[in-house]
Amino acid sequence: MAYELCDKIKNLTPYEPNETHYRIRLDANESYFSLPDFLREKICDALTNTDLNRYPDPLAKDLTEAFGKRFGVSPKLVTAGNGSDELISIITSTFLEKGERLLTFAPDFSMYQFYGSLYEAKTVTLEKKDLHIDVDEAIAYIQKNNIRMVIFSNPCNPTSIGLSKEETKRLIASVDALVVLDEAYMDFWDRKESLLDVVDQFDNLIILRTCSKAVGAAALRLGFAVANPTITNALRAVKSPYNVNTISQIMGSCILNEGEYLNACEDAIKESVRALYQMVKPLEGKVLQKIHLGVTNFLFIKTDKAKEIFKALLQESISIRCFDGYLRITAGTKEENEALTEALSNIVRKMEETYA
Ligand SMILES: *Cc1c(COP(=O)(O)O)cnc(C)c1O
Repeated sequence: MAYELCDKIKNLTPYEPNETHYRIRLDANESYFSLPDFLREKICDALTNTDLNRYPDPLAKDLTEAFGKRFGVSPKLVTAGNGSDELISIITSTFLEKGERLLTFAPDFSMYQFYGSLYEAKTVTLEKKDLHIDVDEAIAYIQKNNIRMVIFSNPCNPTSIGLSKEETKRLIASVDALVVLDEAYMDFWDRKESLLDVVDQFDNLIILRTCSKAVGAAALRLGFAVANPTITNALRAVKSPYNVNTISQIMGSCILNEGEYLNACEDAIKESVRALYQMVKPLEGKVLQKIHLGVTNFLFIKTDKAKEIFKALLQESISIRCFDGYLRITAGTKEENEALTEALSNIVRKMEETYA
């Protein structure tokens, strides 16, 4: 007798955390702001009276209210998750039946496909045109191929490109499939491009938000799904009751209630990514073929030398993100941006000399 793992998990490997300590980390699109002292104190006070012997609030009332207040949406439409990662997992595993079709786009966030195959959906991928979603093509494809769910990030990780509100609405209104719209980076673009204010008008839309990027609280693992009452009801029914721990609920509420502070962080990060773009833009050429600024807190760079540049930067103890044929660099502090630019210039110039 012998137990064997089933096919879908037997070749998986655990996520490998990067154990090396790098001098500069511009690889995960996190905010570069750590909590200010006034907020640390507020959080400490709030945590002092926590009853750790009691289970968390399953509906995370205070937290969803703070989220609703910050983003102008009714807390009745908000479900909190242990990171948006958990919400993607819950949605993919429960809103799709085995073998039903999940549409993703390429390039886009890789977790969508991962959960799709883990839960035995049939994942299909549409290649973007010149890095953009072709909405007409997508609508036709979804209708013709019996797609049950579509998921994409807007603005997109890793391209940094945004699809306009009008185009996004047109896509959702034209299909029967459930559309999961991951707005993880929307705070860096423009509130007016978000669909949060119209989410209730659609019977097939879930918007995902996270505290891991502009809110600067990746460590808390807090994500949000916003949808009409019918979908919200289903989401709350299928999630595990105590999915968001009390400490994260309290800390998240404290942070989300500091609207002015968060606005200032967003403005500074937006300024930082523009400054970084101005600094590296002159390096565009034979090696860095195209540097995209986009509407997020990172740059997307097309280059045939992605792997070589990535490795050379690690030698300088600078970590960025490497993909096949392109690089992604998160905007950091002024000092981090300068150090990155200097190291990158040296690497690129050396490569261009060997080209010539
Ligand atoms: C970073 C990121 C998230 C955030 O995930 P969490 O689990 O909330 O940390 C979600 N979607 C995209 C596209 C991201 O890049």
